[in-house]
Amino acid sequence: MKKIPYGRQHITEEDIEAVVEVLKSDFLTQGPRIGAFEQAFAEYVGARYAVAVSNGTAALHLCALALNVEPGQKVITSPITFAASANCIRYAGGEVVFADIDPETILLDLDRTAALLESAPRGTYAGIIPVDFAGYPVQMDAFRQLADAYDLWIIEDSCHAPGGSYADARGEIQRCGNGAYADLAIFSFHPVKHIASGEGGMITTNRKDLYERLQFLRTHGITKREDLLAENHGGWYYEMVELGYNYRLTDIQAALGHSQLSRAEDGLARRRAIAGRYDEAFAETAVQTIAPAPGFHHAYHLYVIQVPDRGGLYEHLRQKGIYAQVHYIPVHLQPYYRRFGWKKGDLPHAETYYEHCLSLPMYPTLAPEEQDYVIEEVLDFFSLAPAARTEA
Ligand SMILES: *Cc1c(COP(=O)(O)O)cnc(C)c1O
Repeated sequence: MKKIPYGRQHITEEDIEAVVEVLKSDFLTQGPRIGAFEQAFAEYVGARYAVAVSNGTAALHLCALALNVEPGQKVITSPITFAASANCIRYAGGEVVFADIDPETILLDLDRTAALLESAPRGTYAGIIPVDFAGYPVQMDAFRQLADAYDLWIIEDSCHAPGGSYADARGEIQRCGNGAYADLAIFSFHPVKHIASGEGGMITTNRKDLYERLQFLRTHGITKREDLLAENHGGWYYEMVELGYNYRLTDIQAALGHSQLSRAEDGLARRRAIAGRYDEAFAETAVQTIAPAPGFHHAYHLYVIQVPDRGGLYEHLRQKGIYAQVHYIPVHLQPYYRRFGWKKGDLPHAETYYEHCLSLPMYPTLAPEEQDYVIEEVLDFFSLAPAARTEA
């Protein structure tokens, strides 16, 4: 039986050629492919600047450092995300505060976030990390308004949403990660994401100050820029101006990512077509779907359904070769975060969502007949096979 995963990469001959070309060139890392990929990516999301890094988690870590997160500071994020969205605050010594999700969108709830900010003395919180979960864009202008009222920064975790967009309060279309409202946005090029580079990540921003700082931080905090050197001993000279890391992307990865990026819109169109077929198949069944509100263009990294017997459906699908997944176990209930006092019952919407959610196969190369098979098996499990429904 052919296995159908929930997500997978799509590598073409052009991708392979792009990588081979780098292997035959002078630079495997720190070469020209990095800048080219950064520029193309910045253009794609509509941001002024982009900084390529070794993975999405490194991107988050560097953002926390660039924004000077420090011990004693609190940062708000969603419990329904990959753990890295929260962990980056811990790396910098800050405290993670989870606010519950909006059960309609599964995104960080604006009102719950506002309530937390209101209930604490000013200066308690430093920033907010909203997540474009599954590819559903966060209404970032609304978060910006709130952030401004409390003097906070925003990191948009856009790993699920390259190409996604929403209409802001003025009716203008804003692409996820375009830096119009968030200070920084981050992306991942892990193979299950829209654009694959093996491992890889990107930070986008419209802020020149942060862009420059991120460039040092990504490469040991070292600069060779003459205008920034305290001394200059000659051509070999550089200065390490702060404690940075080696979080560079290689040219091999950048070439692959760039080649994939050039097909990103096609992949997005496929994802939306697949979502449309699922939507149609599950309308008026026990399978609950998430429909984006008007003005929101979902990027469909994931196609999430919510069902009464999630555990049963998960097992049923596995037996049929369909490897659906659960995104995510609420981060506040992970043993590491329980150590800080988080417990079951703290965030009821996130916890209820977790009991019922399942991510169905969603990737550009999912064939129509494979999707039909997935739909059939899901409906079968609930005894709602298409035939039975038409008779009813
Ligand atoms: C994948 C992902 C990350 C981390 O990206 P890596 O490249 O795997 O380090 C962070 N946040 C979210 C929401 C993700 O999906």
